[in-house]
Amino acid sequence: MPVPTTNPLMQLIVRILREAGEPISTRQFDQQVKDIFGDRYKRSEHIKLLTFRTALKSAGIVAHPSRGLWGLTPEADARLAELAGVDVWAMHIQMRDARKQKEKITAPPPIADREHFCALTKKLVECWGPPGYEHRIRGLIHDEVRGLADEIWTDGLGNLICRVGSGGVKVLVAAHMDEIGLMANYQEPESGYLRFSSLGGLRHDTLNGNRVLFEDGTIGVIAVHTGGGKSLGDFYIDVQDGNGSATRVGQPAGFMREMQLRGDRIIAKSLDDRIGCVVAIEAMRKLAKTTPNECYFAFTVQEEVGLRGAKTAAQGVQPEVGIAIDVTGSGDQIRGHKMRIKLGDGAAIKVHDPGLVVPVAIKNWMVARCEADDIAYQLELLAGGTTDASAIQLTQAGVPSGCISIPTRYLHTTSETVDMRDVRACIDLLAGLLANPIEI
Ligand SMILES: [Zn+2]
Repeated sequence: MPVPTTNPLMQLIVRILREAGEPISTRQFDQQVKDIFGDRYKRSEHIKLLTFRTALKSAGIVAHPSRGLWGLTPEADARLAELAGVDVWAMHIQMRDARKQKEKITAPPPIADREHFCALTKKLVECWGPPGYEHRIRGLIHDEVRGLADEIWTDGLGNLICRVGSGGVKVLVAAHMDEIGLMANYQEPESGYLRFSSLGGLRHDTLNGNRVLFEDGTIGVIAVHTGGGKSLGDFYIDVQDGNGSATRVGQPAGFMREMQLRGDRIIAKSLDDRIGCVVAIEAMRKLAKTTPNECYFAFTVQEEVGLRGAKTAAQGVQPEVGIAIDVTGSGDQIRGHKMRIKLGDGAAIKVHDPGLVVPVAIKNWMVARCEADDIAYQLELLAGGTTDASAIQLTQAGVPSGCISIPTRYLHTTSETVDMRDVRACIDLLAGLLANPIEI
């Protein structure tokens, strides 16, 4: 039988698909590989196999007839004969680089301009979407990503998932759509004031005097008992209109605040994590549907109440690598945390947080990309809080996961502050990671 190359892993792929006789699922393919390798099965080998499968696809030997199915093309035998002795991998890389060169000239810039970037950020941060009630923000993001993905769907929990590319290493990128909010849970019978519980980590020191918006448009003012403020029970919401107040018990609310700019700084509510959503959307725009990997962008739900959306997104997608895009703190405030992160110093590559020890290979992969593409970066060590990546890593038999973080001041307040240059660095890093073959 002619072989495409002397590469034994490529020969193995052809053998598996030939013996199957008809297209087989990714899962069946993986199982065959595991059966053959037995105890010698290594993850690095597996990743190489997936990359080589993509090369065989671009050589016209392997086909990917529909999502998750793999087989040989009808002309596989003819192509194998033509390519006997040819280094198919080198050929694939050459073709890909030529395509990328063309893309460079024709693809739109990552952020069309400052105006576009600011308008998109403003639209997303000002949208209403407490945990579990993400329908409005999901609709907005859906409108933005239409045309940037090969396939888009919403899973059972409400995550919006977009696939870009097929056949390569499966990467799940997660940015959460929800924002911290609250739930009215009791109405005082005499006064009509509402009591509430939190949807996400409310900071008691920023509640008094803040305004919240209920889904029906009712504006509430949060107030506090004189001398109180330590516990949530000291606070209440005024929703009276002067003509007797209707109950809003069982209704969620989000905070209200307009986005503002100060030079390169963006000041807004819900930059956690709508700015992460902006990074994911702009990275998709930059890829322009061209990637050697199988990328899934998940705009997740209910992160603020326990990383819930990321769990179902990862279980559905079954990725081989996970990347969360989320905000992190900064150490450049007056008497701030002892933390090295500074606004304006570049994308933050996570090393560790209380929920995630980033595998060294993942951290090095991100650092190497920044070095290669001249992207400003800093290493992040976060002492409190975690991200969707901690949920992704614990799905299936374990998924190596990392996180690209946007340095942020005043987290979980209505005046979160980020630097546009850091956001641009995060977009460039994410797009760069996904545009190149992944070998970890
Ligand atoms: Zn977040």
